Amino acid sequence: MAEVVILGAGLSGLSAAYHLKNNYEVYEKEEKVGGLCRSINIDNFLFDYGPHILFPKDKYVSRLIRRLLGKNLHIQSREAWIYHKSCDVYTRFPFQSHLFSLPIPVVKDCILGFFNTLKKEDKKPKNYAEWIIWNFGEGIADHLMIPYAKKIWTIHPRNMNFEWVWNRVPRLSMDELLDGALQDNPRLFGFNTEFWYPLHGAIEGLPLSFSSKVKNVHLKKDVKKVYLRKKCIEFSDNSKVHYENLISTLPLPDIIKCIDDVPTEVKKAAQSLKNNSVYCVNLGIKREKISPYHYIYFYEPDFLFHRISFPMSLSPHTTPKGYSSVTTEISYSRYKKISRENIIEGVIKDLIKAKILFPDDNIVVSDVVDIKCAYVIYDLNHRKNVKKIHGFLRKHRIFPCGRFGEWEYFNMDHSIASGKRIAEEINDIYKK
Ligand SMILES: Cc1cc2nc3c(=O)[nH]c(=O)nc-3n(C[C@H](O)[C@H](O)[C@H](O)COP(=O)(O)OP(=O)(O)OC[C@H]3O[C@@H](n4cnc5c(N)ncnc54)[C@H](O)[C@@H]3O)c2cc1C
Repeated sequence: MAEVVILGAGLSGLSAAYHLKNNYEVYEKEEKVGGLCRSINIDNFLFDYGPHILFPKDKYVSRLIRRLLGKNLHIQSREAWIYHKSCDVYTRFPFQSHLFSLPIPVVKDCILGFFNTLKKEDKKPKNYAEWIIWNFGEGIADHLMIPYAKKIWTIHPRNMNFEWVWNRVPRLSMDELLDGALQDNPRLFGFNTEFWYPLHGAIEGLPLSFSSKVKNVHLKKDVKKVYLRKKCIEFSDNSKVHYENLISTLPLPDIIKCIDDVPTEVKKAAQSLKNNSVYCVNLGIKREKISPYHYIYFYEPDFLFHRISFPMSLSPHTTPKGYSSVTTEISYSRYKKISRENIIEGVIKDLIKAKILFPDDNIVVSDVVDIKCAYVIYDLNHRKNVKKIHGFLRKHRIFPCGRFGEWEYFNMDHSIASGKRIAEEINDIYKK
């Protein structure tokens, strides 16, 4: 019997273990720790599960990450751009603050639309599509933000709330809009203008640095059943373990499926939760520096991917000398099905269309990673459903934790903070 059992050894599970004062055991279904922050090595090309850069805002978490990564911390300024195929132009990210060099009718639409938002009536937005128009106007919404939102979230933004936006979508003044529309303004906007990344070992360097401080991690332990009354977990190898308190970082629908006696309304709430999935197509190319950027966004339906990134730019130690690497992200879900078949060929074709690859490039590595649970989708019932499920789990001493336990749009730093928060809650229970 462990006082605390932690399910999942991603960043949130590792952070919970690190901050607990009680005895604990961690169970992870994969062969290594890290969850979404694992990295893959293919012929000395390192790829993450989609690009993972750090931009922590919380003071405690920032200090902790600095301490964990030590000399392995590499700090850079973001180089993020947007490609517009319709006019074959690159503009700086984010779109709204860098309209310069777009066709004049587009710039005019965006400025006039933004101007109209300044005389806001009291009609507050009720969904994400309305939020975009309310903040940026019809021009910016129609030319980029709504097409991009549809591409990444796989549902129309009118069916989403905007609770998750926080400072992820930078807002701006008329002055700033004009500064970026009348000239090439190099000023960086947004909350990740400077970012951190491990110099060596790709993003997996972060969970690995954590795990050397965390004990009792059991790998290849896939949770099959949770028995609420007996407070017992059964794994797919039929082994069992008892707990007093359980921290679960599993996706909420998965943990609910492991429990037999779930009330119908909780089961229904879990079935109603929405997430997207992401195929990452990773390529290694025998040509140096195929791009000077970190990220490029593609909002047009002409391209399979919504974003591409270059591991070689995040750290030179991810890619053999004389070569380049690129990760492309393709969002899909039950609402927008995309077949994995021929996806590599499709991506290469689109990268040539975007002039990132040349038709005669020598592609030495190609691989697809399927992230089944990638981003939580904030549909209009998100909060109500999550509340119902959390209420049920917590009544049975199951503490949901991390990006998919809390079912929130958590970045790495938020997931670390979530582990800490839950550990402290449990530490307090034992103090009493
Ligand atoms: C494409 C993409 C890009 C991202 N980019 C960034 C970024 O640039 N910056 C940033 O800060 N954040 C980024 N994130 C978010 C970041 O990955 C997460 O916040 C963080 O990794 C979540 O950690 P976690 O421990 O909560 O969840 P997870 O990493 O999902 O960990 C859960 C763990 O539970 C294990 N598990 C699942 N089922 C079972 C089972 N049945 N039995 C036992 N174990 C189980 C899993 O194997 C996993 O190890 C990105 C996410 C995605 C998908």
